[in-house]
Amino acid sequence: MTDFVTPPARPRLAIDGDSRSFPVARVFCIGRNYADHAKEMGAKAEAIFFMKPADAVTPDSTIAYPAETADLHHEVELVLALGKGGAIVASGVGVDLTKRDLQARLKEKSAPWEIAKAFRNSAPVGTLRAGPPPASGAIGLSVNGETRQSGDLDQMILAPDALLAELGRFFTLGAGDLVFTGTPAGVGPLKAGDTVKAEIAGLPVLEFSIPEARS
Ligand code: MN
Repeated sequence: MTDFVTPPARPRLAIDGDSRSFPVARVFCIGRNYADHAKEMGAKAEAIFFMKPADAVTPDSTIAYPAETADLHHEVELVLALGKGGAIVASGVGVDLTKRDLQARLKEKSAPWEIAKAFRNSAPVGTLRAGPPPASGAIGLSVNGETRQSGDLDQMILAPDALLAELGRFFTLGAGDLVFTGTPAGVGPLKAGDTVKAEIAGLPVLEFSIPEARS
């Protein structure tokens, strides 16, 4: 039987030193997995889960400033890449781009976060590295060379294995899934013309820029 429509191809992420790529299925995210970030947001350090669609993921080095926000924020995160049965097969650096102004209004209404979190290109992810994720080490993000976020992976409240166990209570995790593991303190705004560098010790660096708005 032929298809009635043709869906877009899945986004694919490169794997360092491997000619194969990682096709993205679903994107799971955890909020408030670092106590210092929960504190800066005025929230309890209590894990909450949300999702982004596959088309949120992009390996592009240029990301247009999105519509419907005047307060786009960066959140650097360790990203787990899952294989068969939900086992971790690789990891990388990602940024959970967030329309903070919209999210604040949604929080007031106890409404779902999709319009603030799940937009296209809201999840830039760098080249993955095969194997187990680093358990500790520096995680940080700079904008135009100025450090904004810095922490250590060992500050995660739910470390990767515990996080996957918790997610696994609610979802059947599988090959192609990505899991964003939360951000340390220091989230802040991005603007047109900014260059973002996101780094985790032992993983390929993620760098992207936001082009100047066309006048
Ligand atoms: Mn996040």
